[in-house]
Amino acid sequence: MNYYSTNKTAPRADFREAALLGQAPDKGLYFPEKIPQLQPEFAKQLPHLSKAEIAYDAIKPYTGSSIPERILQQIVEETLDFELPLVELSDETCVMELFHGPTLSFKDVGARFMSRCLSYFAGKMEKKIVVLVATSGDTGSAVAHGFLNREGVEVVILYPSGKVSQVQELQLTTLGNNVKALEIKGDFDDCQRMVKQAFADEEHAKRIFLTSANSINVARWLPQQFFYFLALQQWTHKEQPVVVVPSGNFGNICSGMLGKESGLGIKHFVAACNKNNVVTRYLLDGSYSPKPTVHTISNAMDVGNPSNFVRIQELYKRSDTMLKRNLSSFSVNDEQTATAMLGTLSKYDYQADPHTAVGLCALDQYREKHPGTKGIIMATAHPVKFAELVKKITDRKVAKTEQILELEKLKKESIVLPPDYEALKGFLERY
Ligand SMILES: *Cc1c(COP(=O)(O)O)cnc(C)c1O
Repeated sequence: MNYYSTNKTAPRADFREAALLGQAPDKGLYFPEKIPQLQPEFAKQLPHLSKAEIAYDAIKPYTGSSIPERILQQIVEETLDFELPLVELSDETCVMELFHGPTLSFKDVGARFMSRCLSYFAGKMEKKIVVLVATSGDTGSAVAHGFLNREGVEVVILYPSGKVSQVQELQLTTLGNNVKALEIKGDFDDCQRMVKQAFADEEHAKRIFLTSANSINVARWLPQQFFYFLALQQWTHKEQPVVVVPSGNFGNICSGMLGKESGLGIKHFVAACNKNNVVTRYLLDGSYSPKPTVHTISNAMDVGNPSNFVRIQELYKRSDTMLKRNLSSFSVNDEQTATAMLGTLSKYDYQADPHTAVGLCALDQYREKHPGTKGIIMATAHPVKFAELVKKITDRKVAKTEQILELEKLKKESIVLPPDYEALKGFLERY
């Protein structure tokens, strides 16, 4: 399989090159040349396959000859080494819990898959791979955990001192080994600027292969299709589901839509957005106008200009008619999100995190015009990640998970640096 850039001027790349580069040299996003088609008998086989077998079949056409069969099998087995249950709230509504991984959000799957791919590629490279990430919280912890103890890969995470939650800080700073946490005495923008400067500094490229492992990377984007395959495996209704995805950068939902184009039995997608609603507005009036990010209680979706939306447009060959046939979107404010959290708790005795609650609310809104719709909401984070907020809104405590209890036993280890590039440059010289 080859990938072309959505900006159409960069040379094509295979999976390995696309995964190592992240973004195409012309600043476009890599997109598969062909969309593989599932065999007609696949739907019948689905209930009888293991998670790893399903994932292998789903991803194999995309990795092509970049990863040998045996290695790929091992990678998907390790990637999906936790529960991904479809939980029935009522006859009409299910939630697909994607949050039982080590850092309690769906981002674990993409991060685990990518880290294993890069580690495999590193074995064949002369330079050491150094993954450099600036994080405001969630992404960094999933990436750090994914890469922990991966051979041939070093990870450096920059986070703003005092500006991430306690759980997030522990997730970033207690790993050790090949993962170093740099606590920057500044804000997230300082962290991002320092990382950008490091990428622009050609000095490093002589010694190490610096990569960002960010969310547009094909090795993080494509494995998210597993969620949709595994949700359908557990779906017992005859009728195809409408799938609702809490969306920020639109990577997760776009991977599901790619799966649908491969032949997955999904009726329609709903992008559930918070007040950052550039796509919702686009579907209403056809004008794409990014706005500055607004802060919400579903903060992992606070994205003003979603980077993966261009992939969705590419998928439908830039046809708005095709796009609208497959995608609806609703924008949910914080008050509605809180009401959905309370409503879900009282109606189904189910505790949803704020991101999942945006999805629950969006499905209700979709049903106003499509009554009786049977739907699946992608539950993207565990409520315990937002325990304080959940407590404030619902007046209920969230029980700590095993992951959190383990984390609390560990000791924070960070390297404190001032918010200037020279400090980071000096640090990177150790590799
Ligand atoms: C990242 C994230 C999202 C948004 O996913 P995208 O792929 O960026 O659309 C939603 N919910 C949670 C909990 C997240 O961490």
